[in-house]
Amino acid sequence: MSVLITDTCINCDACIDECPATAIVNSNESPSLDGEYHYAYVKPEKCIECVDAAVPKCAEVCPTEGCIVWDMPYTETYNDHFVVSNSYVIRVHKKKGLLSPLVAPRPFREGIFIEDRSNRVSVGETLKLYN
Ligand code: SF4
Ligand code: SF4
Repeated sequence: MSVLITDTCINCDACIDECPATAIVNSNESPSLDGEYHYAYVKPEKCIECVDAAVPKCAEVCPTEGCIVWDMPYTETYNDHFVVSNSYVIRVHKKKGLLSPLVAPRPFREGIFIEDRSNRVSVGETLKLYN
């Protein structure tokens, strides 16, 4: 899957070096053109939701409460969600082609409700990172 960075991001870039999957790029490298304001972007084809850690590293260091939210699992079931959308620019591999969920599914946290993902609930709120 993936998590998603929203437009409350203040471009502090604190999350970028923390990501174990090098899935986050800064606003200048973001392929997603969301209106006038550009901010950090999570490549869903790389994000592994930090499944081996207690909490996602990006959300743990982000100073902006509620900025990072859940997105759908990067799996076959949600292929269209990622591929047929202007919100994502999925990488095209030289040999494998488009690294879609069909071609290259990613690990995801099974404990997160699909409804919360669909509603883009804050990662920090779900995992109680805030006081
Ligand atoms: S959840 Fe983990 S793998 Fe995904 S963008 Fe955040 S730090 Fe990277
Ligand atoms: S840590 Fe939060 S505010 Fe800073 S760049 Fe990442 S998502 Fe944006």
